Amino acid sequence: MPHYTPPLRDMQFVMHEVLNVVDELKALPAHADIDADTINAVVEEAGKLAAEVVAPLNQIGDSEGCTLDKATHEVKAPKGFKEAYAKYVEGGWAALSCDPAYGGQGLPYLVNQSMYEMLNSANQAWTMYPGLSHGAYEALIAHGSDEQKKTYLPKLTSGHWTGTMCLTESHCGTDLGMLRTKAEPQADGTYKLTGNKIFISAGEHDLAENIIHLVLARLPDAPSGSKGISLFVVPKYLVNADGTLGARNPIFCGALEHKMGIHGNATAQLNLDGAIGTLVGEPNKGLAAMFVMMNAARLGVGMQGLGLTEAAYQNAAAYAKDRIQMRSLSGPKAPDKPADPIIVHPDVRKMLLTARAYAEGGRMLAMWTTLQLDKEHASTDEAVKAECADLVALITPIVKAFLTDNAWLATSHCMQVYGGHGYIAEWGMEQYVRDARINMIYEGTNTIQSLDLLGRKVLGDNGAKLKKFGKLVAAFVEDEGVNEDMQEFVNPLADLGDKVTKLTTEIGMKAMKNPDEVGAAAVDYLRVCGHLVFAYFWARMAKVALAKLDSGDPFYKAKLATARFYFAKLLPETAGLIRSARAGVATLQEMDEALF
Ligand SMILES: Cc1cc2nc3c(=O)[nH]c(=O)nc-3n(C[C@H](O)[C@H](O)[C@H](O)COP(=O)(O)OP(=O)(O)OC[C@H]3O[C@@H](n4cnc5c(N)ncnc54)[C@H](O)[C@@H]3O)c2cc1C
Repeated sequence: MPHYTPPLRDMQFVMHEVLNVVDELKALPAHADIDADTINAVVEEAGKLAAEVVAPLNQIGDSEGCTLDKATHEVKAPKGFKEAYAKYVEGGWAALSCDPAYGGQGLPYLVNQSMYEMLNSANQAWTMYPGLSHGAYEALIAHGSDEQKKTYLPKLTSGHWTGTMCLTESHCGTDLGMLRTKAEPQADGTYKLTGNKIFISAGEHDLAENIIHLVLARLPDAPSGSKGISLFVVPKYLVNADGTLGARNPIFCGALEHKMGIHGNATAQLNLDGAIGTLVGEPNKGLAAMFVMMNAARLGVGMQGLGLTEAAYQNAAAYAKDRIQMRSLSGPKAPDKPADPIIVHPDVRKMLLTARAYAEGGRMLAMWTTLQLDKEHASTDEAVKAECADLVALITPIVKAFLTDNAWLATSHCMQVYGGHGYIAEWGMEQYVRDARINMIYEGTNTIQSLDLLGRKVLGDNGAKLKKFGKLVAAFVEDEGVNEDMQEFVNPLADLGDKVTKLTTEIGMKAMKNPDEVGAAAVDYLRVCGHLVFAYFWARMAKVALAKLDSGDPFYKAKLATARFYFAKLLPETAGLIRSARAGVATLQEMDEALF
């Protein structure tokens, strides 16, 4: 069975030695009392929940899956899931970063996000049950009426109720403008919703007393396309005026999907048969309201990728030290044994270091992004809020797509480290690969993230947001350009920064003549930007490690070695990606459709 140890030391390094989060957070009135001990203690306890309660259920969930009782439409999650969720609720974990006005603990998002990395390492499928509630909470807090907030937020905060996001229908996933679910206004101000949703994660289960579905649907007079979509809150059980549960609302699970991974999470087909809902926000503005939930979920999916990368790395590294096979090319390293441990072989090291560099780089990126999110929400300075909002908007598609693409590569490499044993279910490595694959697809495929980055976030505002990140890179290059020990990191970072600027201008010019140029370059472009962001953060981590190398703590030696590996072996991928992005759309359009 795979093991999992929460990476507390690395989390503390990023938070306290690189980002100085306590100073940053203390500057926000809502977090004026925060201190490092509190952050560390909460993260450590969350790590125990992940490692001791949730991780042991990962393989059980995979092999058992969820079961639907077709007569009652009720779904049972795998053995142990309900009990683990009860512990999560009992421990107040759902409330960590929620608003104290609704019973939350008001801690920074950073603490909550760290918990989610660990829960995802432990068991992605289980983590999706509480995970989706956060998005529902965010959408309601941003766009819900006072009545909706009073009815739903305390129970979502405590975790007694969970949330879902119901967008997808069989004929529309990416193109939500085509959705057909209808909402008929009723005399009492509610709506009756009719239609069929598919692929709804945590759509039906037995973990919580009630499930709060956030559903996209169309009003009778709605304009066609995405301008005619409204958002509704549709509870599984209607809620009485005194807050107790009322009648069962006709939103029923018709079937569960059989799928490649995350078997422990119920992916439900939901039939709405005149289900009663209330409108969230304004009519026909539902997509904008749902985007609050989608942005939270996109960062959440990035954390799923990060969590799996870390878990796969830990297991593969332990295996590589233990498994003996063949001799080192440069002579025996373990002469007392019949063969050397496979960790002596350069390519095994390359696979391990790739996963490690993606995990540690991903953690740094995720924590920095979450800190910007904390500042965006809690700063009292409008300029800071706006600056952080722009940075979060720019980086969100990179967190979602780059970290999940990396997770797919990393889990596959880690499986390869096990040789044939990696392909065998018992070791748990093939489950990581299967679970990792969905993260590139849902919450907007990684292609859609790339179009969002290049089309909307970069070209859409003439590079203004990109320049804001570019300024951070330029300031670092300026400061460290004189530091000889940092040249190996600063020079390639500065070089890539220049190349991204040129590439962006070139694609922008080409796109003015042919908009398909954006579609042809977007995926390569996002990966190049992902590396630019990683290079910046790896250089910042290397700077701290270099300064503390003499302390004798092997942590810094390992950090520096991983930084050097990243710059030498992973960053050069950008040369090929830039070439491919620059090659444009011509070869993609040359072939007639009939010849495919
Ligand atoms: C396990 C699982 C859980 C899910 N959970 C949820 C959930 O909780 N709630 C929910 O609402 N949905 C959920 N989904 C649905 C998921 O978000 C969609 O499957 C996804 O957004 C893609 O939509 P689609 O499947 O219809 O693919 P399509 O939209 O048909 O896309 C097919 C392909 O075309 C590409 N494509 C589409 N448009 C463009 C374009 N403009 N340019 C370039 N390429 C394009 C896509 O990138 C993709 O490769 C889940 C799906 C799965 C499998």
